[in-house]
Amino acid sequence: MLPVLRGPVEADVAIVGAGFTGLSTALHLAEAAPGLTTIVLEAEEPGFGASGRNNGQVIPTLTRPDPDDLVARLGPERGERFVALVRDSAAFTFALIRRLGIDCEAVQAGWIQPAHSPERFERVSRKRFEQWSRRGAEVELLEPRRLAERLGSEAWCGGWAARTGGHLNPLAFARGLARAAVARGVRLFARSPVTGLERRGTSWRLATPSGSVEARRVLLATAAYSGPPTGALARTFVPFRPWMLASEPLGENVRRSVVPGGEAVSDTRADLRFLRWTVEGRLVSGGALALPLHERARLGRRVGELLARAFPPLAGLRFAFAWTAEIALTPDRHPHLLALGPELYAWIGCNGRGVALATALGPHLAALLTGGDERALPLPLERPKPIPLAGLAAVLVRLALPYYRWLDSRP
Ligand SMILES: Cc1cc2nc3c(=O)[nH]c(=O)nc-3n(C[C@H](O)[C@H](O)[C@H](O)COP(=O)(O)OP(=O)(O)OC[C@H]3O[C@@H](n4cnc5c(N)ncnc54)[C@H](O)[C@@H]3O)c2cc1C
Repeated sequence: MLPVLRGPVEADVAIVGAGFTGLSTALHLAEAAPGLTTIVLEAEEPGFGASGRNNGQVIPTLTRPDPDDLVARLGPERGERFVALVRDSAAFTFALIRRLGIDCEAVQAGWIQPAHSPERFERVSRKRFEQWSRRGAEVELLEPRRLAERLGSEAWCGGWAARTGGHLNPLAFARGLARAAVARGVRLFARSPVTGLERRGTSWRLATPSGSVEARRVLLATAAYSGPPTGALARTFVPFRPWMLASEPLGENVRRSVVPGGEAVSDTRADLRFLRWTVEGRLVSGGALALPLHERARLGRRVGELLARAFPPLAGLRFAFAWTAEIALTPDRHPHLLALGPELYAWIGCNGRGVALATALGPHLAALLTGGDERALPLPLERPKPIPLAGLAAVLVRLALPYYRWLDSRP
């Protein structure tokens, strides 16, 4: 069991949050600079946030911006560097799991994005395939017939796939990263929420209910769970809570006919359809739209019906488990690396694609925390831009289902 922070301690680096961002950064910091003291403070347990409760799809793309958008925004040199990081993020994640020997049901069977209309296939799938191929990514264009064979369904209209993608058990991955970080000398404290953060001379003081850390450099790896102690960071995103659902293990016949290659699948809809198998044969899916707690059963029925319509062998599908967690959406759907104060950093804006991205950002955030050159970073360091009426935006995003469906019905 991990300890709670008690009493005052000093560190070179303090990381707040033990999700993939905090843990991958701490691990790479311990490996690159073993002489530095790194402390991770987690409010609950490692993986408590989105990292332990996501769908486990390892996806080497962002949700909305494509490679050309990233280059247009970041410039040719840094843009291509960031594109390469995203392109290699899934391969990086699986290689890290193999290197550390983490037992997390990792399956690198690929990731498929089916298009939900012929227009999206022409406009989205072809564009993404073309832009990623141009950058040397291992991608395939799946014409409608080929996609139908790969999925075992004719419900979509072609798509594209990234061969380096796949899926894993996210909580097992987070716990494995935590163990590896601790084994390399990182001091990880659980049940130690940071309640205060203040500048003291040339360092930062982080207060928890029963202790404090004095550190020169700080990373806020709190993502969508960033609360008041994180200052302006908490107002730079809109939190969003999709539901995840898992079935009981299904029979071998069903498994052989629904996505028989075992890829992770998430389509082009805004009201996203997604699924993957676990190694023991559970189907993990969900609804990307926020619902109040009492509507969980309705969501399960709806997702079950939608999946059964696409995959007849899933008729009567019922879900045995449901859970949820918070995603950080940014207004422009881009990830942002933030300088919140002297040697106080964060990144925000996974926009639902953070398993591979947060893990792959780890070494770069570690370099920043050892005083590395900012120009070498894959993203520019920005000042935080609080969203006006962030609270209202969070309410509106919960009511967005009809708007998303309207978007999905358009070519
Ligand atoms: C339901 C869901 C499904 C998703 N599915 C996918 C998917 O299939 N594929 C994909 O690529 N991405 C997916 N994502 C996104 C992905 O999970 C996240 O991008 C990623 O896990 C973010 O990791 P993180 O470490 O930055 O943040 P988190 O994992 O959210 O970690 C933040 C941590 O900070 C801690 N914390 C907050 N405040 C404090 C404090 N004051 N003191 C101490 N600790 C604090 C929290 O307890 C938490 O553990 C999904 C997200 C959700 C919510």
